[in-house]
Amino acid sequence: MALINENYLKLPGSYLFAEIARRVSAFKEQNPAADVIRLGIGDVTQPLAPAVISALHTAVDEMAKAETFRGYGPEQGYDFLIKTIIENDYAPYGINLAEDEIFVSDGSKSDVGNIQEIFGTNNTVAITDPVYPVYLDTNVMAGRSGKLDADGKFSGIVYLPCTAENDFKPALPTTKVDLIYLCCPNNPTGTVLPKSELKKWVDYAKNNGAIILFDSAYEAYIREPEIPHSIYQIEGAKEVAIEFRSFSKLAGFTGTRCAYTVVPKTVMAFTKDGTAHPLNKLWNRRQTTKFNGAPYVIQRGAEAVYSPVGKEQVKTTVDYYMTNAKIIREGLLSIGLEVYGGVNAPYIWLKTPNGMDSWTFFDKLLNEANIVGTPGAGFGPAGEGYFRLTAFGNRENTVEAINRIKTKLSL
Ligand code: PLP
Repeated sequence: MALINENYLKLPGSYLFAEIARRVSAFKEQNPAADVIRLGIGDVTQPLAPAVISALHTAVDEMAKAETFRGYGPEQGYDFLIKTIIENDYAPYGINLAEDEIFVSDGSKSDVGNIQEIFGTNNTVAITDPVYPVYLDTNVMAGRSGKLDADGKFSGIVYLPCTAENDFKPALPTTKVDLIYLCCPNNPTGTVLPKSELKKWVDYAKNNGAIILFDSAYEAYIREPEIPHSIYQIEGAKEVAIEFRSFSKLAGFTGTRCAYTVVPKTVMAFTKDGTAHPLNKLWNRRQTTKFNGAPYVIQRGAEAVYSPVGKEQVKTTVDYYMTNAKIIREGLLSIGLEVYGGVNAPYIWLKTPNGMDSWTFFDKLLNEANIVGTPGAGFGPAGEGYFRLTAFGNRENTVEAINRIKTKLSL
C-alpha cells in the first residue's frame, strides 16, 4: 500500500486566488456589462524588452545549426550569464562573489520552495506575516510544522507579524529559530527594510547559528538610496544568508522563466554533532541531481537584460510600473485611506477603512468600483484588515481604477 506524505493534508486548498476567481465570476454573471479591472494578481503586463527579444531570436537560430546547437548545459547556469550577474548585480556594491556561488534556475518560486530540502526537518522556521505563501507551504509539506490551528497559524512555525503598528519591521523572535525567511521589498506589503533592520537579523543569525533566506524578487523596484539591494551589503551576511533573485519582475520573465540563487561558500549549517557543512555544496548536489539547467535560449535572453540598451529598456518598464504605483498610492491617500508600500515596490498595501475585514472590502471594491484586488488575509493572519493592489496593470486601467475608487467607492 502506497502511503502519501500526510503533511500535504495539513494544507488548506489554495483558497485565495480560487475564491477571488469564484467571487469575480459570480459578480460578472450578475453584472455582464460591468468592465472589471484587475489589480489583483502579481503578474506583469508589459512585453519583454526588444534587446531580450533580439537575443532570444539569435539564440533560437543557434539552436537550428549543428555547429551552434546546445543540449544539456551546466546545471548551475552558463558562465556568460553568471559572470554578467556578478559584474552587474554585485560588483557595483563591492560584493565579491565567485562564479560557483551563483545558481541560475527556472524561477525563484522553485528556488525558494526547494531550498528547504537541504535543511533538516527539525529546524524551527520563522516567517514574516503576511508574506508570499510559498515559504510556509513548502515547509509544511516537508513536515516542519504541526497542524493549522483555529487562529489561522500552523503550530511549530514562528510567525513574525508585520503591521502598521511595528512599521512593517518584524521583531526578533522571542524563541530560538533556525531558518528565517525575509522578503524585501516585500510581497504583499510593498514595504522594505533599511540596513539597520537587516543588520539586526544578520546579527541574530550569527549569534544563533541560524540561516536567513532572503528573497529579493522585487529588488529592481527599490528607489530610495538608503535601502540595500542585496543582503550581502550587510556586514557578516555572507556567513549566514542565501539570496534569491528573479528576472520575472525585473524584466517581465514571468512566462519566460529565469532566476538565480546565491549561496556563498562561507554559509554553513551543522550536523547534530556540531560539524559545519557549506550549504553551497549541498545546494549544488541538490541542483545537479534534480535540475538539468535553465534553457540556453532563455539564459541568453536574461544576459541581454544587462546590455546597455537592455538596461535602459528594462528600466523604462520598471519606471512605468512605478508610475502606476505612484498613481495608486497618491490616489488612495487623497481620499484619506491609510496606505503603505508603493515607493520601493510595485505593491500598494492599504488598511481597509472602518475596520472592515479584507474580504468585505474585496466585495465592496468589486461591487461599487468593479475593481479586483487581493484581500490581505490571504497572505497570513496579520494581513487581515489590509488589502493589496498591484502596479502591474497598464496605465489606462490604473488611472481608470483610481478614478473609480475616488468617485464610486463609499467610505
Ligand atoms: N518571490 C516572491 C516574493 C514573489 O512575489 C514571486 C512571484 O510573485 C516569486 C518569488 C516567484 O518568482 P519567479 O517568477 O521567479 O518564480
